Amino acid sequence: MFLLMFWLDALSWQVLTFICIGLLNQQVHRFSHTPQKRLPGVVRLLQRLRLIQDGRHHWVYHISPHSTRYCVLTPWMNPMLDRLGFWRCLERLFVPIFGAPRRNDLRVQPWYRPIAIWNCAN
Ligand SMILES: [Zn+2]
Repeated sequence: MFLLMFWLDALSWQVLTFICIGLLNQQVHRFSHTPQKRLPGVVRLLQRLRLIQDGRHHWVYHISPHSTRYCVLTPWMNPMLDRLGFWRCLERLFVPIFGAPRRNDLRVQPWYRPIAIWNCAN
């Protein structure tokens, strides 16, 4: 649909690029929540090469206080962005605007199921 809109000049290439990067981020995030044996071989290879994030790296993000490893695409950007305080800076900018502070209480939510997917045997 987005490509059709682009071809019809309803989207600029910048917006299309932003959409593609956003979709890629979400797919890689999904892969990090998928058991290893259910992933396509190329995805497992990319995770092993540390080009995209795997569940082991991503899991720390889901542990309280949820203050680190926000980047869901690569494992190598997070140490640098965490050290620079990039995510804290974004929080200080956006929380007053959007009013959605970082959640420290996710574990008590009934819909939140922390599953260590990288240890999944089946
Ligand atoms: Zn996640």
